[in-house]
Amino acid sequence: MLKITNLSKNYKQKEVLKNINLEVKKGIALALVGESGSGKSTLGRLILALEEASFGEIYIENKKLKSWLKENKSAISIVFQDYRSSINPNFKIIEALQEPYWQKKQQITLKQIEELLTQVELPSWVLNSYIHELSGGQVQRVCIARALLSNPQILILDEALNALDIYTQTQIIKLLKKLQKEKNLTYFFITHDLESASALCEEIAVLYKGNIVETLNINNLKNAKHFYTKALIQAVIH
Ligand code: ATP
Ligand code: MG
Repeated sequence: MLKITNLSKNYKQKEVLKNINLEVKKGIALALVGESGSGKSTLGRLILALEEASFGEIYIENKKLKSWLKENKSAISIVFQDYRSSINPNFKIIEALQEPYWQKKQQITLKQIEELLTQVELPSWVLNSYIHELSGGQVQRVCIARALLSNPQILILDEALNALDIYTQTQIIKLLKKLQKEKNLTYFFITHDLESASALCEEIAVLYKGNIVETLNINNLKNAKHFYTKALIQAVIH
């Protein structure tokens, strides 16, 4: 589904991503783990075509990203790490959810929105609230619902479960797994947290200082070779 070849990204003199090669099959949940500043969100923005790579290519279904996106509009969604600022504070939540569709032919019904709210465990009163009236975890669930509304084929979740309590995290992971099965969704799950990565994902790619140093099947973590992967695994073994 997604293939990244020899991808590099520089900001001025700073080389943030270095010769990334990565493949994600359709319907697979891939966790991208790595320490702060390793380039995870940058890679997410490149996959969303919000930024251009300095070198290399991203292909989806063997087409270059931008031409694929022309034919498959809104087929890649993201829940931003900085999720709170991705919602317009002057909108009620219902407006924030509908706003991306105001200019489009595709209509989103109240029923569709209410169904998704139930799935992310939010009561319908949030629809008439403003973002400053909601808790961090509630806003995050609104953002997850918004990302799912466009019916994406690929969903990028950038630290999307961080502000959620363990119970809600588990519920969202259940929902994501259900959607993965039903819709053959492909996930790009960006996280520091190997535990939630293991709960959702089949594969893990480890980003260390801008390099993918290791990709592993989730059932094969014990064969990790890179010291950073080993340190991550150690951290979750109590
Ligand atoms: P975190 O886990 O803290 O979210 P991350 O792995 O997502 O970190 P990125 O946000 O991708 O890391 O940043 C990687 C590097 O790129 C950092 O050194 C950051 O300062 C740099 N960087 C990111 N965006 C820009 C930008 N627009 N201009 C210049 N440098 C940038
Ligand atoms: Mg980040």
